[in-house]
Amino acid sequence: MKKDELKPKVAKPKGPVDVERQCGVMLPHGQPCGRSLCCKRHRMNAKRAVPGRSLPYDMLLATYREKNWAKQQKAAIDANAPLEDEDEAN
Ligand SMILES: [Zn+2]
Repeated sequence: MKKDELKPKVAKPKGPVDVERQCGVMLPHGQPCGRSLCCKRHRMNAKRAVPGRSLPYDMLLATYREKNWAKQQKAAIDANAPLEDEDEAN
């Protein structure tokens, strides 16, 4: 009987930073910035110039913001129990 061989995990060649979701601007020490797309340390122009994105930075940022916004909305809704109007009069 043969046991399944352990397959070595193949690392994705994408690199440590996911430029679809992270800043990715090269830092002085040769590592890409790992902050989020809306990283305030780097200018838009620098982030737009980062290679490897599937979409222009602005579009990725828009998507990112949209997702974030939706998440925040949901969190806000979850945090705030449904408000009940106390005066239902009229
Ligand atoms: Zn950055």
